[in-house]
Amino acid sequence: MPLEDTDRCVMCGLCLPHCPTYGLTRQEGDSPRGRISLMQALAGGQLPADDRLTAHLDGCLGCRACEAMCPSGVPFGRLMDEGRALLREMREDRPKLPALARPLLRSDRIGRSAAALLHAYQRSGVHGTLSRALDRGRLGRALSLLPPGAAPAIPGGLHRPAGTPRGRVSLFTGCTGAAFEGGALAAARDLLLALGHEVDIPGGQDCCGALDLHAGDAAAARACATRNLAALGAPDTPVIALNSGCRTQLHEYAQLLPGEAGGTFADRVRDLCGFLLEQDLESLTVDSRPATVAVHLPCTLRNVLREHGAMLALLRRLPGTEVVELEGNAYCCGAAGTHMISHPQAADALLAPKIEAVRRLGPQAVITANIGCSLHFQAGLRQADIDIPVVTPAEWIWSLVSGQ
Ligand code: SF4
Ligand code: SF4
Repeated sequence: MPLEDTDRCVMCGLCLPHCPTYGLTRQEGDSPRGRISLMQALAGGQLPADDRLTAHLDGCLGCRACEAMCPSGVPFGRLMDEGRALLREMREDRPKLPALARPLLRSDRIGRSAAALLHAYQRSGVHGTLSRALDRGRLGRALSLLPPGAAPAIPGGLHRPAGTPRGRVSLFTGCTGAAFEGGALAAARDLLLALGHEVDIPGGQDCCGALDLHAGDAAAARACATRNLAALGAPDTPVIALNSGCRTQLHEYAQLLPGEAGGTFADRVRDLCGFLLEQDLESLTVDSRPATVAVHLPCTLRNVLREHGAMLALLRRLPGTEVVELEGNAYCCGAAGTHMISHPQAADALLAPKIEAVRRLGPQAVITANIGCSLHFQAGLRQADIDIPVVTPAEWIWSLVSGQ
């Protein structure tokens, strides 16, 4: 039964100091414990789905810091998805992903055309003026988060290494791959090729489904999952997903699509950093000039997948690279999927101390493994006039290998 697991909460309050939104407002309704009580009251009919209750539930970042430390094992992330699905049943005015954004969430010809249009717009010079003109609305906020330029989408299909391949991997491009992650995907592909792997980038991939699921639309999320299973169907090939947010969702296909297909697929999903740590990295020639990088750990990597150790260990294997965990890594940066667009003030308040930490440290790069965090950081650094790139681990490593 939906929301049944709210009963596992013993109301101890141990999660409260770990909740970023409670830290901002100090209101019980913006804490994990308070949100659980509100969901219970909503499900039991004691409270209506009014604007006040909705705002408390919508304010949740989904960072799952509460879930990571809860002694009772309350599955907060799943409960919040169920709570928002209940809100969707009770209120007709629940937001959906804008139809305008949908083409960008596809990896096929339509998605690539939409990404190319977006890149042309970013280069056009209209970008800054239009963002400022639309300053207050959601569209203006979304446009202000776009970086001024972006690398083109990488071609799909099978990419072969020189010599006899050691194996084959599939690369998950998801919904943001064509529009925002051309550089990150190209670096990952080139690293894997240099290490002797065939890299397949299958067409027909879709968004992982996280955006829909966290908005309470499980049916739309299942449709995304079904399309991805069809696209990435080759049964023995590891599926490498760069973004920790997407990877979390791909792992959760086991729950989203119960049955063998979802579970088998989830078992194939790999973290690029963990995969690279198993390879013969000594075969690469790496530039060992000294450099400091600040590592921002996305919430999904830290609180859900708990794979951040692999990212840090991989970067620490690089001669010359000093790896510093960015101050405040225990807290969400505020990006949180579409939260940085729907809740700009909270998102900026959570990001501000991290931007100041970057300013104090002055690293050569900020490294993160999630596109939402990356876009939010890039916008924050631009606004603070700090010229430091934000890159993925693959882009950093490939820049040292290729000398770019
Ligand atoms: S969610 Fe967990 S940590 Fe938070 S109040 Fe409930 S039982 Fe305690
Ligand atoms: S998921 Fe994050 S923002 Fe939401 S209640 Fe838990 S700690 Fe707070």
